Amino acid sequence: MKVHEYQGKEIFRRFGVAVLEGHLATTVDDAVAAARKIGKYPVVVKAQIHAGGRGKGGGVKLAKTEDEVRAHAKAILGMQLVTHQTGPKGQKVRKLFIEAGCNIARELYLGLLLDRESSRLTFIASNEGGMEIEKVAEETPEKLLKVQVDPATGLSPFQVRQMGYFLKLDGPAMKSAMKFLPALYKAYGEMDCTLVEINPLVVTKEGELVALDAKVNFDDNALYRHPDVEEMRDPDEEDAKENEAKKYDLSYISLDGNVGCMVNGAGLAMATMDAIKFFGGAPANFLDVGGGATQDKVTAAFKIILSDPNVKAVLVNIFGGIAKCDVIAGGVVGAAKEVGLKVPLVVRLEGTNVDLGRKILKDSGLPITSAEGVRDAAEKVVKAAASA
Ligand code: ADP
Ligand code: MG
Repeated sequence: MKVHEYQGKEIFRRFGVAVLEGHLATTVDDAVAAARKIGKYPVVVKAQIHAGGRGKGGGVKLAKTEDEVRAHAKAILGMQLVTHQTGPKGQKVRKLFIEAGCNIARELYLGLLLDRESSRLTFIASNEGGMEIEKVAEETPEKLLKVQVDPATGLSPFQVRQMGYFLKLDGPAMKSAMKFLPALYKAYGEMDCTLVEINPLVVTKEGELVALDAKVNFDDNALYRHPDVEEMRDPDEEDAKENEAKKYDLSYISLDGNVGCMVNGAGLAMATMDAIKFFGGAPANFLDVGGGATQDKVTAAFKIILSDPNVKAVLVNIFGGIAKCDVIAGGVVGAAKEVGLKVPLVVRLEGTNVDLGRKILKDSGLPITSAEGVRDAAEKVVKAAASA
């Protein structure tokens, strides 16, 4: 799960990771009130969307007076902010973070994530702050320092110094790092993060380390331990279909093709997507209804697929092992009747109670094309989508 910069910084503050004073604003008046609360210029008006690159896109502006705060807030609120992470359509700005202006001496980069190869939490540090770190990693990997933390000992002071020297921190900044880095490491672990990225991490003219940006992602499977994080969820920034799917415990991911897929088992779902691609089509989603799919779940899944306006044809590819074919067929028919099926539907059923399942589909009076095997199913659905 992702959160906004202002929420990430709220968590940083809780653990003693240095951040500047800042306040959330959802209106121009709020923004002015926030600047007054900070009580010192300049302040920075920052668009809050779940994507980076806001500065380049015009979503981060320095304001030296109250009038400038008003003007920037007015311009940014409601704008469709396009960055390299939002896609060409951009993302609508509904929230602002008004933050104290920082006396920046140097901009650095700091990331903390799980390195799956070594199974260790790994810091990534670089002097190339404010840049696209992916580019730095690709073109000049020597400019990145990776520090792996042994889970048995935790982050050692020598590792903090190692990062400090690499980042060319001098006396006061090095001292600041001795507090900053362990606090960040603690926050990551205790909050069940999957990624923390601070770009830029700033050395101020006063020699302090400050997190000027905050990207914090959390492990969805650990959210039950963090109701406060769950509360930070912003549905405006998430895919509505994916959220609906979560309610029914369905593994659903929205994609940009036009063939809706309902499959049981992640492996079969992947194979189905491959087969659709193989025949020149593109899947509109990944969907695994799970082994023990009930009729309710199947109905919900089918509705979610059909709510996507890009879907031009649907493929139901089920191998009934634990989930029985008649249950799946009942769910498909029920949902199709409930929402009104307006696109071609291709069904491939195999496994437990397959005859009963096929009979339910046949007797439903719905225009369903049956298929034999994955190849046949994929070929038929791609053709149907193309001619729709
Ligand atoms: P994004 O990564 O989405 O562009 P950032 O929070 O990194 O957004 O801000 C972009 C740039 O704006 C930073 O690299 C920094 O130079 C500047 N900036 C951000 N916050 C402040 C601040 N509080 N004071 C001064 N400059 C800032
Ligand atoms: Mg940034």
